[in-house]
Amino acid sequence: MSLAFIDLAAQQARIKDRVDARMADVLAHGAYIMGPEVAELERGLEAFSGAKHCISCANGTDALLLPLMVLKVRTGDAVFCPSFTFAATAEVVPSLGAVPVFVDVDPVSFNMDPASLERAIAWARGAGLTPRAVIPVDLFGLPADYDAIEAIARAEGLAVIADSAQGYGATYKGRVTGAIGDFATTSFFPAKPLGCYGDGGAVFTENDEWADLLRSYRFHGKGADKYDNVRIGMNSRLDTLQAAILLEKLAIYADEIAARQVVARRYTDGLSDVVETPVVGNDSRSVWAQYTIKLADAEQRTRVAEALKAEGVPTNVYYPLPLHRQTAYSGFPVDPAGLPVSEALAQQVLSLPMHPYLAREDQERVIDLLRKALADG
Ligand SMILES: *Cc1c(COP(=O)(O)O)cnc(C)c1O
Repeated sequence: MSLAFIDLAAQQARIKDRVDARMADVLAHGAYIMGPEVAELERGLEAFSGAKHCISCANGTDALLLPLMVLKVRTGDAVFCPSFTFAATAEVVPSLGAVPVFVDVDPVSFNMDPASLERAIAWARGAGLTPRAVIPVDLFGLPADYDAIEAIARAEGLAVIADSAQGYGATYKGRVTGAIGDFATTSFFPAKPLGCYGDGGAVFTENDEWADLLRSYRFHGKGADKYDNVRIGMNSRLDTLQAAILLEKLAIYADEIAARQVVARRYTDGLSDVVETPVVGNDSRSVWAQYTIKLADAEQRTRVAEALKAEGVPTNVYYPLPLHRQTAYSGFPVDPAGLPVSEALAQQVLSLPMHPYLAREDQERVIDLLRKALADG
């Protein structure tokens, strides 16, 4: 019997009638670009996270690029990113001619290490770069340490762009991601906690002027009249059909986040005496984009993953190579103290099947198999 790593079919069975009806509405009114569902979704996302402005866009990568455009990040600027993340976090920086400077992460939370950020900022100033922004990532659904990062950013004059592609709807000290940072971004890629049936993304901000600029940049730099382009923008709109689908997904999202807590709790209860399981501080709630354990080393990880695979249980390694070790990014600077935690985690992490519809029996089988594989050596 084979398990799904992320079971989107189970979710679809729950909402299919409503999604079909929403899609039929769009086919009937025909406003495929910037139709009424787009604004309805944006208002819904603002309400969900308590953010003042939501500006949807074409994907989670553009959602990171658009704030950098608003900030006019350019050649000579430095933007600080973790290395232990998906490539999109850093990719947007050199695309504007600026330099991504890689920062290490914390070995427990896997999120940006504030001490490493401070070293990287000092290094960048010494190298003649202008520090402009920091992009903390809510990796695997857990919010970054925003109090510490925001304090450093304020002292250094940096904007905080919270990459919540994996963490939309998570909470940090009573705040919901989306309403954290100068800008927060998310992705609606299908496998993200809040995903659509294609590409999609959104940017959040509290700042009215930035919100207007984001709406302009995503639509070819439009002015008051859409055929009067007042700045160089891009084409990055969320399709009306995707917004219609997301409206039905958002309607069940709070319930799914609650279900994810139950699944994560079962893994932790069943595994924490035999392997390092994720730790969520009392002041945070993860949305569990991934449930990621830490093995001793790459050999043990391979052995455990193979044992599970032989029994039809899929696992994934996020991420086998930190960005600063990847071909396209190896030329960019890193914290002068190096990135030892990012390098170690790349050898140790293993993500288990995780979604809100994971049945107790299936999960118990994963836990039993994993315990057996660990006991076997
Ligand atoms: C998925 C992801 C992105 C990019 O989102 P897309 O919608 O695929 O462009 C950015 N950052 C992180 C951390 C992600 O996981």
